[in-house]
Amino acid sequence: TERTYIMVKPDGVQRGLVGKIITRFEERGYKIVALKFVQPTEEHLEKHYADLRNKPFFPGLIKYMASGPVVAIVFEGLDAVKTGRAMLGATNPLASPIGSIRGDFCLAVGRNIIHGSDSVESANKEIALWFPEGIT
Ligand code: ATP
Ligand code: MG
Repeated sequence: TERTYIMVKPDGVQRGLVGKIITRFEERGYKIVALKFVQPTEEHLEKHYADLRNKPFFPGLIKYMASGPVVAIVFEGLDAVKTGRAMLGATNPLASPIGSIRGDFCLAVGRNIIHGSDSVESANKEIALWFPEGIT
């Protein structure tokens, strides 16, 4: 069993897609082990996306991610990181298969509604960053 960090981004929350997204993970068999609704600061998001700080889209990414509340979730289950990423689709929604979350619900790479950890190592870092109080 494994844990992954999934986050519904501000556009996903504003568009009312939180329930649909959670349902997909629950129906697949993943269990929620932590969840919160939070308005992230730019400083916090800069830590979350630290690996991307030199990318040209970084400032826009931080502004987008700070534009409203997000839903921070930890899902647990078999192969949660890799299967979670497959459920999201590709970074660019236009390259995401129909049936994936991004492939079904969005179009723009800069408004791609959901985040998922890309490795077990990132998942552990992200879970510690978003749930510093710890998870039981
Ligand atoms: P995330 O980390 O948000 O789950 P990802 O792992 O699929 O997405 P990353 O390379 O980590 O992709 O990029 C983080 C986010 O930065 C993307 O989800 C997207 O919102 C944004 N992004 C990535 N590439 C571009 C780009 N070329 N133009 C605009 N925004 C981009
Ligand atoms: Mg990423």
